[in-house]
Amino acid sequence: MVKYIPASKEDALNFLASHDAYIVAGGTDMMVLKRNAAGLLPKFDKDVLYISNLNELNKIYEDKEYIHIGATATLDEIYNHPLTPKLLKEAVGEVASINIRHFATLPGNIANASPAGDTIVIDYLLDAIVKLESKNGVRLVKAENFVLGVRKVDRRSDELITEIMFPRFSYDGDMWYKVGSRKADSISKVSVAGLYSITDGKISKFALAFGSTAVTVRRSHELEKEIEGLTQKELLDRCEEFVEKYSKIISPIDDQRSNKEYRLMVAKNITRKFIKQVGEGK
Ligand SMILES: Cc1cc2nc3c(=O)[nH]c(=O)nc-3n(C[C@H](O)[C@H](O)[C@H](O)COP(=O)(O)OP(=O)(O)OC[C@H]3O[C@@H](n4cnc5c(N)ncnc54)[C@H](O)[C@@H]3O)c2cc1C
Repeated sequence: MVKYIPASKEDALNFLASHDAYIVAGGTDMMVLKRNAAGLLPKFDKDVLYISNLNELNKIYEDKEYIHIGATATLDEIYNHPLTPKLLKEAVGEVASINIRHFATLPGNIANASPAGDTIVIDYLLDAIVKLESKNGVRLVKAENFVLGVRKVDRRSDELITEIMFPRFSYDGDMWYKVGSRKADSISKVSVAGLYSITDGKISKFALAFGSTAVTVRRSHELEKEIEGLTQKELLDRCEEFVEKYSKIISPIDDQRSNKEYRLMVAKNITRKFIKQVGEGK
């Protein structure tokens, strides 16, 4: 079994082309998934590619269309970077604890594809794009198409995520809520992110995404289209109708962190709060 530390991105892609390997970035999920008996090193059953040393993938930069966040930038670096989109910063600041954030990465969060992955909610809401590279070229996949199910993603075995790209756009207001058992170092029971814009007295942009309430993050483009074009008063008048409609796009479950009734109630309360925020233009 090979454990490989590549010297460059090209070296990493060559390795992936010839080995069926696990990729380890920060290792904060992988070391838990592959943990061994106390005192023993993690148990990997196939080759391992460690990428956290790849400085060429550590960059955070912008061009006309996107903010690009490199695959080895840690959540702590992302949190402290001036280009980081505001909502992403808020969500990243609530992932785990500072020591985990010194290692954890954005691709690690989305590729792990946990229903409770906090930054995935923001990836969906901001229409982020996952950039995958292999020796055969580059593939750009929308985050909401990349996650296929719990721990299932649209990644071929020779591909490395090299960046998460966030389209640049402005909006008037937003919201991020993470509900956990405590303020810090808490896995989400429910998380919700939203954003909106008002143009000429009408809602011109409305988006809501829910985490920890289904096998993957949930966002409804159909409901967003139904809301866009309404006046703020019309939205407020139809608040309960939309709270009910949004509650139908999620399917919370019972697990060790919470139960489905609580999750549904919290998701509805936050949806109602966000609709009021948009309706009142706060
Ligand atoms: C104590 C603790 C608390 C936590 N709290 C939270 C929390 O509050 N919120 C939350 O969302 N998560 C939390 N996590 C989970 C974890 O920290 C995050 O999911 C983190 O973002 C994973 O990043 P990583 O770089 O460590 O991933 P790794 O463990 O290195 O990898 C995770 C998965 O992503 C794949 N991967 C990583 N990088 C790439 C790449 N460049 N290309 C292709 N595949 C790749 C790996 O192969 C693996 O399948 C917690 C974990 C721990 C241990």
